[in-house]
Amino acid sequence: HEIRTPMNGILGMTEVLLESPLSAEQRDHLQIVKASGDALLTIINDILDFSKIEAGRLELEHIAFNLPGLMQSLVARQQQAAKAKGLALQLCLGEELPPAVIGDPIRLGQIVTNLLSNAIKFAAHGNVTVVVRNDGTNQGNQARLNFSVTDTGIGITPEKRQSIFDAFVQSDSSVTRRFGGTGLGLAISRELVARMGGTLDVDSEPNHGSCFHFAVDFPIPASSNIV
Ligand code: ADP
Repeated sequence: HEIRTPMNGILGMTEVLLESPLSAEQRDHLQIVKASGDALLTIINDILDFSKIEAGRLELEHIAFNLPGLMQSLVARQQQAAKAKGLALQLCLGEELPPAVIGDPIRLGQIVTNLLSNAIKFAAHGNVTVVVRNDGTNQGNQARLNFSVTDTGIGITPEKRQSIFDAFVQSDSSVTRRFGGTGLGLAISRELVARMGGTLDVDSEPNHGSCFHFAVDFPIPASSNIV
């Protein structure tokens, strides 16, 4: 909180300034301040999340939410980034998906967003596809949902496939130089999936692409009180 509040102050005031009359040069400079601040806030949030997980203080919510709606908005938010790289970003939702499930929409969103932004980051061309399907083994008021994020990017060698889930690990040192990042996203995502009762894993072929996937059982709400 002590780190996030001043950071939000800096970013908020930068946005206010960007809406005021500025010379083209001042606007360019301020846009760099904004982009750097956004990047720093992402890193701060990752480090805070990771230390919360390490300290065993991460609590998951259990609320009913609109799963298809959440997935659509998560994918919509990344369309611009995909388009800027010439990638076709698609969402496929299984027809048999329950309209609402009980879980933590913020943390589920964080996992999917991490995987999606990696897929876009590590693909120079081709497609990024997000799939959510019900695997059909519904037990009463539970649904087992399979999530996958597939890209046609640089892929990951078999030797690196497990270590990329460790904190602060990137597949090689040139990655930081070329793509930035802290190496925390997958460590956080794997832990969040584990806390939801699933396992985040990857299938990948170097130079062809990667498919990150996990399955989680979600209770289905009895009423239609969804957020
Ligand atoms: P970051 O993206 O900040 O480097 P992550 O924990 O999200 O950290 O990812 C760790 C490493 O795993 C990345 O640096 C990259 O080497 C590798 N990686 C993750 N996603 C992909 C992907 N879709 N394609 C290829 N490599 C990936």
